[in-house]
Amino acid sequence: KVPVITIDGPSGAGKGTVSRALAKKLGWHFLDSGAIYRSLAVAVTQAAIDPQDIDAVVRVAESMDLRFEANDPPRIFLGGQDISHKIQTEDCGSTASKIAAHGPVRQALLQKQRDFQREPGLVADGRDMGTVVFPDASYKIFLTASAEVRAKRRHKQLKEKGADVNLDRLTKEIEERDRRDKERAEAPLTVPDGAVLIDSSDLTIDQVIARCLDIIGG
Ligand code: C5P
Repeated sequence: KVPVITIDGPSGAGKGTVSRALAKKLGWHFLDSGAIYRSLAVAVTQAAIDPQDIDAVVRVAESMDLRFEANDPPRIFLGGQDISHKIQTEDCGSTASKIAAHGPVRQALLQKQRDFQREPGLVADGRDMGTVVFPDASYKIFLTASAEVRAKRRHKQLKEKGADVNLDRLTKEIEERDRRDKERAEAPLTVPDGAVLIDSSDLTIDQVIARCLDIIGG
């Protein structure tokens, strides 16, 4: 069986950076499941479909041609078009979070995510990796941090990119998205059975990575 490490947790906890670094260290594949939901959000927007029209969203999910290139940074193509930058906006994340609330949409994306489980191993980053997508994963980690710390990190990132953002607004948006992700009926964000919890509020990325390696090694 191909080994899988799942890293779940709320947005901004550092999952992306940590998972990518772990995958690189181990020489394993990397699944950014949020990017799949975000890509679907782009596909839905480009097809001028109402994100509330779930049947139509599911049809787009089933027919979209997504390709991942494991470059550094990784690139994502939708029907041949490079959407790596498009998927990074707050708007895209917000649409992704809305369509992700629907069971049939999640179902339509399930196999696309499981296809990433290939030799020699997979690091899977998301919200439901250890609970739904890879319940039999070899190692499960739940990475979290306070909403305040997560908003500050995101604020710094966005400012470095030259975006004009307001910290209070960002904190509210993060809390709002957390609430949606936790309270939704389908695959709500919870700590998977058997997961090790890591709170990164007072840890550096390197410290978090070291802890993950400890968990895998021990
Ligand atoms: O992690 P990221 O911010 O890229 O994810 C965008 C949105 O996609 C999240 O807010 C969440 O609602 C949804 N998502 C999900 N399940 C996943 C990954 C992301 O519902 N495994």
